[in-house]
Amino acid sequence: MQYNYKIPRRKTRVVNVGKVLIGGDNIISVQSMTNTNTIDIQGTINQIKALEEAGADIVRVSCPDKESTEALKSIVKAVNVPIVADIHFHYRRAIEAALAGASCLRINPGNIGSIDKVKEVVKAAKDHNLSIRIGVNSGSLEPYLIDKYKSPTAEAMLESAENHIKILEDADFFNFKISVKASNVFLARQSYELFSQKYDYPLHLGITESGTLRAGTVASSIGIGSLLWQGIGDTLRVSLSADPVEEVKVGFDMLKTLNLRSRGVKIISCPSCARQGFNVVKIVAEIEERLSYIKEPITISILGCVVNGIGEAMYSDIGIVGITNKENVVYIKGEKDHKVSNENLVEHLVSVVEHYISKKNI
Ligand code: SF4
Repeated sequence: MQYNYKIPRRKTRVVNVGKVLIGGDNIISVQSMTNTNTIDIQGTINQIKALEEAGADIVRVSCPDKESTEALKSIVKAVNVPIVADIHFHYRRAIEAALAGASCLRINPGNIGSIDKVKEVVKAAKDHNLSIRIGVNSGSLEPYLIDKYKSPTAEAMLESAENHIKILEDADFFNFKISVKASNVFLARQSYELFSQKYDYPLHLGITESGTLRAGTVASSIGIGSLLWQGIGDTLRVSLSADPVEEVKVGFDMLKTLNLRSRGVKIISCPSCARQGFNVVKIVAEIEERLSYIKEPITISILGCVVNGIGEAMYSDIGIVGITNKENVVYIKGEKDHKVSNENLVEHLVSVVEHYISKKNI
């Protein structure tokens, strides 16, 4: 019997980012952000397409100037995922992005300026069915909050979010989600917890500026993962100093690990040791790469010997267990199916997986 625990999720309102619904019982969406220069239209489109291929549900694009919101028109038309325009300050960029076809604005209403400007942005969002993400960040808290709380604290983050929320609510706008990100996992976690005790607006999770591929993956898995485990979070972005495609892969791996969403190949593999019947590390890397295009959920166990190999194969869609340094056994749906030699092991496993998926889809 496997553990297939379903984490109960906090009930939140539903908002939309284009066709993607966020909050309520909707799947937890995975986001990323381009790091190309937005005015490099083809480069940005190519990166968004790579993110789509990796499974990104939503992609954010920086729009720091008028040339970028101009470029956004062509970018939006060429891609399938809804685009969030990252604005930050200038209300005119927000209006231009709405006209260019963005599905969401990442802008803090408290940074826009006068109430009249806020009203113009809200009108553009309503007219074009855009949502807004309020993004509170420990690195850019309002100076008066730092004075009041002496440092970025969860209470300061909550107060900042509340100020922005009130501006939108007063403008009769409710189609928004919130993030309260920090690079410190304790601060981020406490901020999200505090917010979720008080509000039912959907939450965009993130550990901001979490670092390199390895360190950022660990920090995000602990920070975002612990919140997801508590049922908190409706959409997420893993922030890495790496190729944004890696952010999407890590996001999906988190959701797969917590049984919150399944997509593509999940590999169970051992670290290998002197008992291995084949080169586990090399074979697993090759299999992962070769099968990265698969979108259907499938679990494959690849273990070097019978010590744990048979037990894992019993609960995988497809399992391979090293027997001798020449021969391995392939399990399908927990049943011993056939033997395969070490030669062409990757080719053989790829064809077994593809055949399994094609049979499932008939
Ligand atoms: S499954 Fe076998 S080969 Fe893999 S680490 Fe365990 S003992 Fe070693």
